[in-house]
Amino acid sequence: MSAPLRILIASTPVGPLGSGAGGGVELTLSNLAAGLRGLGHGVEVVAPAGSVLSGALVHGIPGRLQPQMQTLGRAAEAPLVADAVLAGMWHWVGEQQGRFDAVINMAYDALPFELGPTLSIPVAHWVSMGSLNVAMDRLITAAPAGTVAVHSRAQARTFGPAGEGFCVLGNGFDMGQYAFSPGHDGVLGFAGRIAPEKGLEDALAIAARTGKPLKAWGLMQDAAYWQAACADAPRAQVSYEGFLPTAAFAQGLGRCQGLLMTPKWEEAFGNVAAEALACGVPVVAYARGGPAEITLDGVTGFVVPADDINGAAAAVGRLDAIDRRACRSRAEAEYGAPALARRVDAWLRRVLAGRP
Ligand code: UDP
Repeated sequence: MSAPLRILIASTPVGPLGSGAGGGVELTLSNLAAGLRGLGHGVEVVAPAGSVLSGALVHGIPGRLQPQMQTLGRAAEAPLVADAVLAGMWHWVGEQQGRFDAVINMAYDALPFELGPTLSIPVAHWVSMGSLNVAMDRLITAAPAGTVAVHSRAQARTFGPAGEGFCVLGNGFDMGQYAFSPGHDGVLGFAGRIAPEKGLEDALAIAARTGKPLKAWGLMQDAAYWQAACADAPRAQVSYEGFLPTAAFAQGLGRCQGLLMTPKWEEAFGNVAAEALACGVPVVAYARGGPAEITLDGVTGFVVPADDINGAAAAVGRLDAIDRRACRSRAEAEYGAPALARRVDAWLRRVLAGRP
């Protein structure tokens, strides 16, 4: 067995852990920290002040939050934020680096990529979104060989030929948080931040077409978008179920007949697809990004062409042909937290070995 490592995880600067602003990164980080600790590593986290994370030492840093990169556009320059928490966090990394063997960067921002080569410990970048911005693409694709990891092959491809060298980690979840639900209530689910890139309007159209009620969970990031989407689909029966802690979210999710994943962006992974499978809930996914890799067509749900509302509605009609136990088994085999930790461990060891 290899020697334990002292690992620092630098969180996303868009919001404190537990706020939901970081989207899937928050749960990824929590499961990653737990999984790495389970392998015997020492794990500490540096994150915006106010962060809540059980079971790991969190160093909270004050400062102004960073805007979400996906809201800035392809041509935007790295945003300059006064008293930025991002700068504070990475100043702290620089000061404390002597106590660690490596740092895992979870921020989709320029600063960690620019600072990486100046630090005395290696920075391993776990990139949480596909290509969004020209300046970030340059930094991500120029990072030292082997130091960039992504969630899915589809996400890697958005970065062009350089993406072939990225480590594909998938993701991992605490299966104990997701009770298997053999039955369902005949409702459809939608889960994720309520924001335009998630394609809520298509899920509403599918609900209207199939006549099935739709339950939506997730952080209400853009209330005007929610209202406009609901107003445009008056025939859809939709209820907003709130942004719940994982186990409560899983309980509601488990009662769904299927989860709709209708993203308008190249979804890097789509945690909620793997979480649905863990509950035994099949997924109807657009062939766009991670959800189409997570969903095995005809086995754990259906993959339909992107933006094909009719095709998705037809797939909803076939959902009961999917064995819910097969969904759970697939989640257990591919998306458990210990398996993720082993993949990350192997990646970090390669990053450390490649360091001069
Ligand atoms: N989520 C949650 N409570 C809810 C609904 C969603 O904690 O009521 C979490 C979910 O577990 C997932 C995250 O929100 O980890 C959404 O992440 P995903 O990767 O699906 O999309 P992102 O927001 O990163 O684009």
